[in-house]
Amino acid sequence: MAKENPFTIAQRQLDEAAEILKLDPATHEMLRWPMRELHFTIPVRMDDGSVKVFHGFRVQYNDARGPAKGGIRFHPEETIDTVRALAAWMTWKTAVVNIPLGGGKGGVICNPKEMSMGELERLSRGYMRVAARLIGERRDVPAPDVYTTPQIMAWMMDEYEVIREEHIPGIITGKPLEVGGSQGRGYATAMGGIYTVREAAKVLGIETKGATAAIQGYGNAGSFAHMLGVNVLGLKVVAVSDSKGGIYNPDGLDYDAVMAHKKSTGSVVGFPGTKEISNEYLLEMDVDVLFPSALEEVITEANASNIKAKIVAELANGPTTPEADLILHKNGVFVIPDFLCNAGGVTVSYFEQVQNAYNYYWSEDEVNAKLDAVMTKAFHDVDQMAKAKGVHNRMAAYLVSVDRVVRAMKLRGWI
Ligand code: GLU
Repeated sequence: MAKENPFTIAQRQLDEAAEILKLDPATHEMLRWPMRELHFTIPVRMDDGSVKVFHGFRVQYNDARGPAKGGIRFHPEETIDTVRALAAWMTWKTAVVNIPLGGGKGGVICNPKEMSMGELERLSRGYMRVAARLIGERRDVPAPDVYTTPQIMAWMMDEYEVIREEHIPGIITGKPLEVGGSQGRGYATAMGGIYTVREAAKVLGIETKGATAAIQGYGNAGSFAHMLGVNVLGLKVVAVSDSKGGIYNPDGLDYDAVMAHKKSTGSVVGFPGTKEISNEYLLEMDVDVLFPSALEEVITEANASNIKAKIVAELANGPTTPEADLILHKNGVFVIPDFLCNAGGVTVSYFEQVQNAYNYYWSEDEVNAKLDAVMTKAFHDVDQMAKAKGVHNRMAAYLVSVDRVVRAMKLRGWI
């Protein structure tokens, strides 16, 4: 089945929320579209001496609640509509955790796996050279996303500071610690998700210690969900996967050993003592917690009725289609929707900006305690809304977030 344009999915989700909230047509129309976007080319000198022209985007979806915030994705299948959808979801994400930021996103169509470090550095600096006209501590603050790293954030910050001729570390987050990063930012997306799983398990009466889990995707979100799922909640992670395939061991997988294998071979596949499985199979496994932690639209109407997990904790952005949401809800699967479950990343990005503004830095325990408080509050805001309105969790999260954004737009006199 062909994948639906992710932006039409984001718009359809909003349309449903708009109907329940009885939004007036102008407010609804304003929220269906990005407020601003920049499309640009980035010429990059490649190592062989040739010049390659890359296509980049930055979308500021809505900044009624504060400066736009959201990552930059480097991906071969990036499209403007993917960036728009991700920017819309960032708007709802910062609102659901109630931090004073709006939503934005950026992207470049490229395959970083095929580029040298020098080429990546020139591309990253080239991106910032053009996007600098939109970016700013009080305008729009980027961060990492799929296939962008703390090193890339450091290059982008440096390029921006060269342009502005001063230190402004808060223009980008997810930086390495040495250049103004925050403790706990590296694993914050997974940590925030783990706190929401803990709360969901309490609501459902599930004991997390010894509960089984499967993780689809082994990037920043998925791999740290493995580490923290075991260390913080005592989960038994029986299956993990990456873009090359998955592995299964009913006795549980050791995080350090799997990570070492992935580092040396480039994939989790082939890890000793495991059965090889597909990504599709992993999603349908009979586990307590399933973490979709890779890309969009992996749970659709084609496989939703086969999902056996009790909790689906969406660390990826947009992994579930609206049709699949209805099936999961009907079948009693407890979904922790993406822009709630994975909001830990942007929450610690916000803490990073605050620390940059003070030029005074917090301990790892302090960051995690503050993150826990934010995620726990957001989880219960959504859970209460779901119960009060009798809607599924994603729609409840939309109702909480859209209402907050609309209040800010009204107070500003936009609508
Ligand atoms: N890219 C991450 C996300 O989708 C983090 C964004 C940020 O920290 O600004 O939430």
